[in-house]
Amino acid sequence: MPTTPLFDRDGHRNLLLEDFSGTGMAIQANQHVIVDHGEGIILDPGGHKVYSRVLGATLGELGRAKLKYIFLSHQDPDIVAAINGWLMTTDADAYASNLWIRFIPHFGLDHLVQARLKPIPDEGMRLKLGTSELLLLPAHFLHSCGNFHVYDPVSKILYTGDLGASPDGAAEVTDLAAHIPRITWFHQRYMQSNRALRAWTKMARSLDVEIIAPQHGGLFRGVKMVHEFYDWCDQLQCGIDVMEDIYQVPGAAAT
Ligand code: FE
Repeated sequence: MPTTPLFDRDGHRNLLLEDFSGTGMAIQANQHVIVDHGEGIILDPGGHKVYSRVLGATLGELGRAKLKYIFLSHQDPDIVAAINGWLMTTDADAYASNLWIRFIPHFGLDHLVQARLKPIPDEGMRLKLGTSELLLLPAHFLHSCGNFHVYDPVSKILYTGDLGASPDGAAEVTDLAAHIPRITWFHQRYMQSNRALRAWTKMARSLDVEIIAPQHGGLFRGVKMVHEFYDWCDQLQCGIDVMEDIYQVPGAAAT
């Protein structure tokens, strides 16, 4: 299966593994691999439906480089479900929010590999990859209560998991105004509050970002589009902002 290089310079590569989506009802998902001077990381490797193909493609792209890390932005099955296979077949350490460390083993984590599932503290952290350093950034409540994004200062790509995701899939966003209606419902329902979005954009605006790469659907390329996306986030009412009235006892069941 093909991979799309998003960045390739001086021993640093950022690769998008294309169309390893599940079939049928399963949501399309992107997998991203970053390689720097002999060391690699895979972001949100996915579930069982794509495991063998994503593993094969990742190891093929790594070549002689070593898979050092597996990053899990949050606990959802399309991100975590195949983690046991990844830990059993590679030497990588997996990083996930501290909140999910005792829940992820329920996906079936062998006791031999459990110690290689490492917690990310709420404040985030940095990971050394080759000669570069990746930033694991707090993105809590967007949508999971323990949620992280990855910023790569070399490629200037911000990997945002479900934030910015378009569940219908799309290679790249070319017309943001036309794209926004396609992602609005997903963000209104999955993201937890405008307050969380504004806290996130305040942090994101402090970074030099050229591409926002979500885990589902199209990526946002160029500083102008990235900032237009921040502007949209700043004004979006979502989650508890728009759903408070739903807390009502349901009526009688249909007969
Ligand atoms: Fe999710």
